[in-house]
Amino acid sequence: IIDVNELQTSFFTSKGEVKAVDGVSFDVPSGKTLGIVGESGSGKSITSLSIMRLLEDPGKIKGGKITFQGEDLLSKSESEMRRIRGNRISMIFQEPMTSLNPVFTIGDQIAESYMIHEGLSKKEALKKSLGMLELVGIPSPKDRLKAYPHELSGGMRQRAMIAIALACNPELLIADEPTTALDVTIQAQILRLINNLQEELGMSMMLITHDLGVVAETCDYVAVMYAGKIVEYADVETLFKSPKHPYTVGLLKSLP
Ligand code: ATP
Ligand code: MG
Repeated sequence: IIDVNELQTSFFTSKGEVKAVDGVSFDVPSGKTLGIVGESGSGKSITSLSIMRLLEDPGKIKGGKITFQGEDLLSKSESEMRRIRGNRISMIFQEPMTSLNPVFTIGDQIAESYMIHEGLSKKEALKKSLGMLELVGIPSPKDRLKAYPHELSGGMRQRAMIAIALACNPELLIADEPTTALDVTIQAQILRLINNLQEELGMSMMLITHDLGVVAETCDYVAVMYAGKIVEYADVETLFKSPKHPYTVGLLKSLP
C-alpha cells in the first residue's frame, strides 16, 4: 500500500545538517502490519512524520520517493496532503494531547470526520461517534461523547485518539509508540485493541514501538532502525529466528 524508497530527511540546526533519516526504504503490503523498532533517536518518528509531511520547521525531506497506492506523495501539494491525512492515512501519536483539540468535545472531534467524509448530519455523526467510542472500549461512552480531552484519563485519551483516527476509515494507520505514556496493563489492552481493529477493518499499519514482544504478537514484517538507517528488514519469523545486526541480536537477548 505504501512504498518508501531511499527517503532522506535532514534537520538544519545551528550546528549544521543532521541527517535524521538517511536513505530508508521499505514497503507495507496491503492489509499487513509493519513494525518499526530501534533505539531512541534512530529516526522512527521522523520517518512517519515525513510520510505525513508533518515535519517541524527545520526539518526537510531531502530525497527519495514515497508511493502510496500508486500515487507519488512527495509531489502532492499541501492541500492535497491535507486531504490524504484526514482521510486515507491516519496517525496515532505517542502523546494524545498533540492530536486532540482541547476546545472541542471528544464527540465533536469524532463526528467532524463523519460529517466531512460521509456527509452525515451532526446528529447522525454523533450517533456514529458513540458507536466508535463503544468500539474502542471507553468506559461510559455516552458521557465521554460530551467530555473535553482534559476531562479524560490518559488511557481514555489514547482510546479517544484511536477513535478519531479510525473514524475516517483510513487505508493506512501509522501508530507511533501509541502506548508508551500508559501503564503496563493498559498498554497491553490498547495494543490488543489496535491489533483487533486492524484485522477487523482490513487496514494496513505501521506500528512504531520499542518492544519486540509487541512486534512478535502483532506484526507481519519488521524494520530495525539504527542511526537513521534500516539495518534489518524481514518478516517477523525470519527476524526472530536469525537476526543479523548486532543491535537486533541485543534486543532479542533482552526479551524475557
Ligand atoms: P524515540 O524512540 O525516542 O521516539 P525516534 O527513533 O522516533 O526516537 P526521531 O524522533 O525520529 O527518533 O529523531 C531522529 C533524529 O532526528 C534524532 O537524532 C533527533 O535528534 C533528530 N531530530 C528530531 N527532531 C528534530 C528537530 N526538531 N530539530 C533537530 N533535530 C531533530
Ligand atoms: Mg519517536
